[in-house]
Amino acid sequence: MNEKLPFVTAAKAEEIASRYPTPFHLYNETGIRKTARELNAAFSWNPGYREFFAVKATPNPYLLKILKEEGCGVDCSSETELMLSEACGFQGHEIMFSSNETQESEFARANSLGGIINLDDISLIETLENAVGIPETVCCRYNPGGEFLLHNTIMDHPKDAKYGMTRAQLTEAFRILKQKGVKHFGIHAFLVSNALTDDYYPELARILFETAVELHRDTGAEIAFVNLSGGIGIPYRPEEKPCNIRMIGENVRKAYEAVLIPAGLTNVSIFTELGRYMMGPNGALITRAIHEKNTYKHYIGVDACACNLMRPAMYGAYHHITVLGKENEPANQMVDVVGSLCENNDKFAIDRMLPQIDRGDLLFIHDTGAHGHSMGYNYNGKLRSAEILLKEDGSYQMIRRAETPEDYFATLDFANLSYTT
Ligand SMILES: *Cc1c(COP(=O)(O)O)cnc(C)c1O
Repeated sequence: MNEKLPFVTAAKAEEIASRYPTPFHLYNETGIRKTARELNAAFSWNPGYREFFAVKATPNPYLLKILKEEGCGVDCSSETELMLSEACGFQGHEIMFSSNETQESEFARANSLGGIINLDDISLIETLENAVGIPETVCCRYNPGGEFLLHNTIMDHPKDAKYGMTRAQLTEAFRILKQKGVKHFGIHAFLVSNALTDDYYPELARILFETAVELHRDTGAEIAFVNLSGGIGIPYRPEEKPCNIRMIGENVRKAYEAVLIPAGLTNVSIFTELGRYMMGPNGALITRAIHEKNTYKHYIGVDACACNLMRPAMYGAYHHITVLGKENEPANQMVDVVGSLCENNDKFAIDRMLPQIDRGDLLFIHDTGAHGHSMGYNYNGKLRSAEILLKEDGSYQMIRRAETPEDYFATLDFANLSYTT
């Protein structure tokens, strides 16, 4: 059983909230650095190893800077993410550009930064060539189709995923790219999201290593790296077990030694593009209970809503909730914890057993550090919250201010409105 303890005390959260009103996302610098160091240690057997943090998960310059200090690069999928990464000082092969339905302008931006381009489709060779020509290093995204099985259990259905090239297209793409002058090749695949088993990466690695050996044999391409992409999961639920990253790294090494080394591919770098694993548990949404309602159910209304954390509304995702200061009180009340959107899916928890919640209590909604604030939106005229960094020395800093009504109106043009009466 995973205890799911908050990384902040009630007193500290109140201190922060007295300066920056709730709701806000709070990030834990200590946890971010620890996660990055454990990951880097797990893959330290591979001299070229690099984690390219998936920027979409938590696109905040202060957090990207922490990861940069820990040796990570960035994985971008849009021009704006590339611009953000550039502003944070990432350059050259510290940048992976794993996009899809890509436009020429996006390839041009990625190429101008010297980033590694990861092609989602064989047709994008032409788009890339028209945009900037063909770089010396190119990665191709593979989709093996069918079902992805681990121990005879279906983990996901790659055949239904829009990403990546078929096996035949992959060989064809390598041939074309090689003929157009590519010297260093990579292959990439993302087959399961939020995988909570230690076997996902090693199995994916084995598939990609075998594919790399075939591609090298059939096209003569020099395989410079294998990109295992994202997908390592986190225990959102208390009964779930965290992944053992050391074991994962060790078993990827075993696959490397079993498949790549005997084939003479001894200098292949391992890349990862983790988002959720890096940041998820190192962020929380702090929100205050503002209302209690008793009708056919018992509701606790809070000052955050799905615009601050979309995952429960969108995927029915579970996020654990701790009532700060009541960590040791019995969870003997069944409640729905709800936001104020005019949408009945705006519920952070449904039929959840929690301690007695009083108006003014602070709730710590766990595991919002990835795909949390970044999935925010403005429905119902709701404004996105601030982001606060809790630093290693216990001090805290606002790293993104909350939106104001001026932000909401900034894209509207009232000047050319003519009113008719
Ligand atoms: C979303 C994404 C990631 C990160 O996924 P996580 O589940 O957060 O690890 C990595 N690579 C690509 C291409 C992605 O689209």
